[in-house]
Amino acid sequence: MSYVIAIDGPGGAGKSTIARLVAAKLGITYVDTGAMYRAAAVFLNRRKIDKDDDKSIEKAVSDMDITFSNERVLLNGEDVSKKIRENDVSKMASEYSANPAVRDKLTALQRQMGKTVSLVMDGRDIGSNVFKDAKYKFYLTASPEIRAERRYKELKERGEDIEFNKILEDIKTRDERDMNRKLNPLKMADGAVLVDSTDINIDGVVEEILSNIEER
Ligand code: C5P
Repeated sequence: MSYVIAIDGPGGAGKSTIARLVAAKLGITYVDTGAMYRAAAVFLNRRKIDKDDDKSIEKAVSDMDITFSNERVLLNGEDVSKKIRENDVSKMASEYSANPAVRDKLTALQRQMGKTVSLVMDGRDIGSNVFKDAKYKFYLTASPEIRAERRYKELKERGEDIEFNKILEDIKTRDERDMNRKLNPLKMADGAVLVDSTDINIDGVVEEILSNIEER
């Protein structure tokens, strides 16, 4: 029987690193739904569609296809894996992700992925909406300062020139937007296990998650 492990939480909590490691340990597929929202933002932004223009967004998303190939993110066949990690795309993704047509489209794609194979899926609404009946649910968080520090290091390593305070401010704004939007806001799903990574390293968090999984 296939099963789903849902890992939700705010940006920079380490979800993708942890989810990837958990999936590798269990030998199952990892799906980064944030990457899908980021790719959707790149798609809509290239078409210069305003985040509040619901009609145009609804029309445009019917031409949008987002798939994964060996963890590369493909937007209508184009590899956008690098592009979607730019700092500006975080903000855009958070804005466009409040749109119902964007959410409907990506939720349907995500549900399809979980139909046949076991998955670790990370995002904001996986345990509360996409896979409400997921066998395992986790809410991974850390203080905004620690999350900003991690993002800062990541962006610096990638050569982006950006100030720490700007990242911290961006993280807080994005939390606020993601937690307070009308549709599928970020919240701890019923039955989710809370994991706070502020004072635990990556291996510790992976171990804590795996200790809850029967299939390990
Ligand atoms: O996880 P990541 O930071 O890459 O996500 C980018 C943005 O995509 C988030 O700030 C959030 O607004 C949106 N998102 C979402 N639902 C998900 C995953 C991401 O709304 N399941």
